[in-house]
Amino acid sequence: MAQTDPSKPRTIPVAKPVLGEEEAEAVRRVILSGWVTQGPEVAAFEREFAAFTGAPFATAVSNCTTALHLALRAAGVSEGDEVITVSHSFIATANAVRYCGAVPVFVDIEPGTFNIAPEEVERAITPRTRAILCVHQIGMPCDLAGLSAIARARGIALIEDAACAAGSEILWNGEWQRIGRPHGDIACFSFHPRKVLTTGDGGMLTTANPEYDRKFRLWRQHSMSIQDTVRHSSSKVLMEEYPELGFNYRMTDVQAAIGRIQLGRLPELVARRRQLAVRYRELLAGVEGLTLPVEPEWARSNWQSFCIRLPEGLDQISVMQTLLDQGVSTRRGIMCSHREPAFRIEPWRTAERPGGNPLAESERAQDTAVILPLYDQISEEEMRRVSEAVRLACACVHP
Ligand SMILES: *Cc1c(COP(=O)(O)O)cnc(C)c1O
Repeated sequence: MAQTDPSKPRTIPVAKPVLGEEEAEAVRRVILSGWVTQGPEVAAFEREFAAFTGAPFATAVSNCTTALHLALRAAGVSEGDEVITVSHSFIATANAVRYCGAVPVFVDIEPGTFNIAPEEVERAITPRTRAILCVHQIGMPCDLAGLSAIARARGIALIEDAACAAGSEILWNGEWQRIGRPHGDIACFSFHPRKVLTTGDGGMLTTANPEYDRKFRLWRQHSMSIQDTVRHSSSKVLMEEYPELGFNYRMTDVQAAIGRIQLGRLPELVARRRQLAVRYRELLAGVEGLTLPVEPEWARSNWQSFCIRLPEGLDQISVMQTLLDQGVSTRRGIMCSHREPAFRIEPWRTAERPGGNPLAESERAQDTAVILPLYDQISEEEMRRVSEAVRLACACVHP
């Protein structure tokens, strides 16, 4: 093993999943049961996730990208349609629109929350708009009330990319409700290790629409008319058929067993992250020019990430390098899909903004935001080290 220098503290990571003996024991139980792919554990995880979010239906899939694909497809998005979304998101958001042959119409974000601006959505609607795909970016709920009013008035589907937002809440008709309830038509979650609840890889769709749910269940399993769980327990020989194009987007029982334990931990994980976010605010208060993330009074973030904005004029990469030299890992803020080579090939458009860059705030957020370490096991001492390093980097680095 490499010798670590005891005089140099170890590098603080950006994130770390909380996985322990209980998850390991759950996986062992599934393996010894002899049924490892989609089966009773997936069904139980779905029931528990539906109960947790307050959604009538929940369907587990292989990841959030496949969830987004199925959601858009169920909403009828196809070749030549337009889907209004943000460029400022992980690229899977825009990619899912392209899987359907539709064109993403990118609108700008609100700088404080890094989330979609409803008034921009209104301006981007055309006769070809089939859906609005909003994102609860890094766990911060977006303005669902504003967006659903627009979607209803125009008869457009509202799909939530809730990849990062398991455990986040929104004030809805005077009560706090969990993201996924659903407030739009369909919400899509990710259980990648970078999110608060992880199954290694995994995803979930929630909806109140039984017809959508029926489609998700059919399509995720090759559109096979008879589920293998049904065939296995039948005393008669059953022949399945494949009424339409399907996919293999299944979650496995191994993943679902981990997910059930993680879901049990989630309220505690979110409560801890909310405390840590408060602590960062205290520690970073007074750093000149630094902008801290905004949580609207109608939103409770699960703080999947704590994303700060650097003072004007500082070079993002130099600051991140200075922090890394101090043993503090960071990540740049959220990417802009329209700036990636893939979207020089793939079609997309924006609503025109007279005399200005229609994605100016998205690009500025990508270029100035930095994600700080935030994970369950982070210590007070580590948070102090991060905050002190940020303070020094902001004071020392010149453009
Ligand atoms: C992580 C993420 C995804 C992709 O989730 P996977 O489960 O890895 O497919 C999609 N959208 C957003 C906003 C994300 O953060």
